[in-house]
Amino acid sequence: MPETITQGEIEEFARYTRDLTRGEKFNGFATHANQNPKEFPKDFLQYIAPLGYLGMDIPEVYGGSGMSAQMQAAITEGFSRAHAGLGLSVLVANSLAAFPIARFGTEEQKQKYLPRMAAGEIFGCFAITEPNVGSDAKAIEMKAVRDGEDFLIRGSKRFITSASGADICVFDARTGPAQLRGNSISAFVAEIKNRPGVSVPIIYDKVGQPGSVLCEVVFDDLFVPVSGLMNEENKGFDTVIAGTLAHSRVQIAAQNVGIAQSAIDEAQIYGEKRQQSGKYLKDIEGWSNHLAVLTRQVELSRFLTGKAARHEDAKDPNFFVWASLAKLIACETSVRVAEDAMLLHGGIGYIKDMRIGQIVQDALVGRIYEGTAHIQLKILDKFGIDQKKRAPLYPPANMLDLKLEQLPPLEKVKVKVERWKITS
Ligand SMILES: Cc1cc2nc3c(=O)[nH]c(=O)nc-3n(C[C@H](O)[C@H](O)[C@H](O)COP(=O)(O)OP(=O)(O)OC[C@H]3O[C@@H](n4cnc5c(N)ncnc54)[C@H](O)[C@@H]3O)c2cc1C
Repeated sequence: MPETITQGEIEEFARYTRDLTRGEKFNGFATHANQNPKEFPKDFLQYIAPLGYLGMDIPEVYGGSGMSAQMQAAITEGFSRAHAGLGLSVLVANSLAAFPIARFGTEEQKQKYLPRMAAGEIFGCFAITEPNVGSDAKAIEMKAVRDGEDFLIRGSKRFITSASGADICVFDARTGPAQLRGNSISAFVAEIKNRPGVSVPIIYDKVGQPGSVLCEVVFDDLFVPVSGLMNEENKGFDTVIAGTLAHSRVQIAAQNVGIAQSAIDEAQIYGEKRQQSGKYLKDIEGWSNHLAVLTRQVELSRFLTGKAARHEDAKDPNFFVWASLAKLIACETSVRVAEDAMLLHGGIGYIKDMRIGQIVQDALVGRIYEGTAHIQLKILDKFGIDQKKRAPLYPPANMLDLKLEQLPPLEKVKVKVERWKITS
């Protein structure tokens, strides 16, 4: 699969995003978000909207930049390297809220919402998870019943990122017999802010990723006009829902590359100032070898993320399989790399003042959201990327005890992966 943009261009975008996250405005945001983890980061999102960061999935004609998945991944990585929760909030605004409307919405929905989303005037969320339904996403219980020119929506959605700050919500609901599973699910976009029939009764106290908010949304007889239907009735799952998840999994992979890279950054900084036995840590072989093994693993997940993005940009109908692989490996990697980077700090790594503790907490959830690791395995098994193929991509169990040169050269692994074919 050839690259559609150059590595130089991707790096330039990543650098630009990094510079933005070094400014005073960003520092103010990060301090405030970390102290107020249940607050939707509206101010900072509105600050970055004029720079184009909320219009990445929105075509130019609706006020966005219609950016490629590869560019977007570079930006998601850049934000998440600086602040994982901000990375998630930007990702939700683009990949989970704007994308489904831009890709699957009606002309009326596009004109009504997209320009205002790109400008940061309104915000969106994407709601499929329910109290009784998570991984088995085709089993949803929320009902949408036709009532004249409206649908009447009743049910709850749980663990919805950005809902407390959202003006609109893309969600799915059952519009036919439950036994038809995915074939009786419709997708909708609806205004939810200050509407009778909608409440956000819970903002959860998360383990990590301040700068993003996690909520429960209750629809209690919400009237949604028929014009809020996305795609045809009963045909929302395989199109709007599955299509959005495939797209956003590439960006979740990029978020986790950013988180893992931030763990490497912190270890590097510490290794340059801490001395033991008369040497800087970075000059002690066991320490620097361990960091090199971690860095190789992050490069591998960056490669897989870039590959998934390239397949998406090239409109490969099987790109969703590469998205699952990238998401699986990048999220397994971010947890292990963050934990090991804490070890590379010694005792100080376990003290809350140090950023690495926050990074460990931020990394833990990648394996859970947007389809857990177990669910990605099922997709990969089904399409021929089996356990044997996946094995060399995971962070090695004994990373602590491996010499870099004992691992196969990264270029060799990349060549092998490029040869894999998707089968079913
Ligand atoms: C921070 C955060 C942000 C989120 N944001 C959103 C959002 O914006 N919108 C949204 O709709 N949802 C969101 N979610 C929900 C998330 O996608 C779900 O939590 C996730 O899909 C798992 O569903 P569940 O929690 O119901 O777990 P369950 O499905 O109950 O799974 C429990 C365990 O069983 C395993 N399991 C379940 N089924 C199988 C199976 N068939 N084979 C093997 N193992 C299985 C799972 O892997 C897991 O280990 C978010 C969650 C979190 C934590």
